[in-house]
Amino acid sequence: MDAPRTGSEAGSSARSASSSEDRFPGHGADVAPVLEVFRSIQGEGRYLGQPQVFVRLRGCPLRCTYCDTPHSWVLRADQRPDLGGETLGDELFSSPFQVACAIADVEADGPPLPISLTGGEPLVWPGFLASLARLTGDRPLHLETAGAHPRTLAALLGLFRHVSLDLKLPGDLDAPVEIRAGDVAALGDAVPVDETAPSSAADWTATRRAALDLLAGRDACAKLVVTDRTSEREAFEALEDLCELAPDLPLFIQPATAVPRSGAPATDRITPLWEYALELGLETRVVPQVHRALAIR
Ligand code: SF4
Repeated sequence: MDAPRTGSEAGSSARSASSSEDRFPGHGADVAPVLEVFRSIQGEGRYLGQPQVFVRLRGCPLRCTYCDTPHSWVLRADQRPDLGGETLGDELFSSPFQVACAIADVEADGPPLPISLTGGEPLVWPGFLASLARLTGDRPLHLETAGAHPRTLAALLGLFRHVSLDLKLPGDLDAPVEIRAGDVAALGDAVPVDETAPSSAADWTATRRAALDLLAGRDACAKLVVTDRTSEREAFEALEDLCELAPDLPLFIQPATAVPRSGAPATDRITPLWEYALELGLETRVVPQVHRALAIR
């Protein structure tokens, strides 16, 4: 196993993380409940098909009806991380150093790859993200986020080479369930984000607009998941927000993979969306989850 890069090798990512460290100080603030670390290809968004290392974190306050990783939502004391097949940690929480070692492990003798931070919702663990960035140096960090925590996204934005933002539609979401320090015995010293997720349609509109405002002009993309029940009105509103606030972001309309609570959309539910996106002048692609189609992790 190669050791992760540390100290002076940390480079620009560490420097841009300093304000984040100031915001999220304290013992335990930099551990996170890692679900798994693995190497695969990116199945969604702007870097579709690119080999990457994935760091999937547990914990998400949202309850999207189409979620394909509901096992990532909640924390339990008996959960253990899958750190690239190695059992480097025997606790629910892992340190950034353990995860950096796992990243080196899954890459084996291959070249360094971009690291995709996914979940769950990675922004629930801001201290971990800031510390991991210090250990991965100039390696591109890609963030996959629901955009439910724009204040936290603003504080950490300098860490990420690329951000993939979901355009969440209130009609596809059940009420959020927050993760709070002290609520769960298993949390220990870990410090989750101090920003709550939106809980009303109006809150979601404001939150989505704030996130888009942050990402305009950056290496980022917007993803709109479409199910068999997606509201055309809500989807059109999200596309209008994208057009107004971050028209340079490529849009990926993603037909949902069927899960128990949500079905895949028929063509006549998708077509009006890409037609309207084109009308708005958005760079538009319609792409299903490629890793699901290939039946890979
Ligand atoms: S934000 Fe992602 S992980 Fe959380 S419920 Fe929605 S799809 Fe699932």
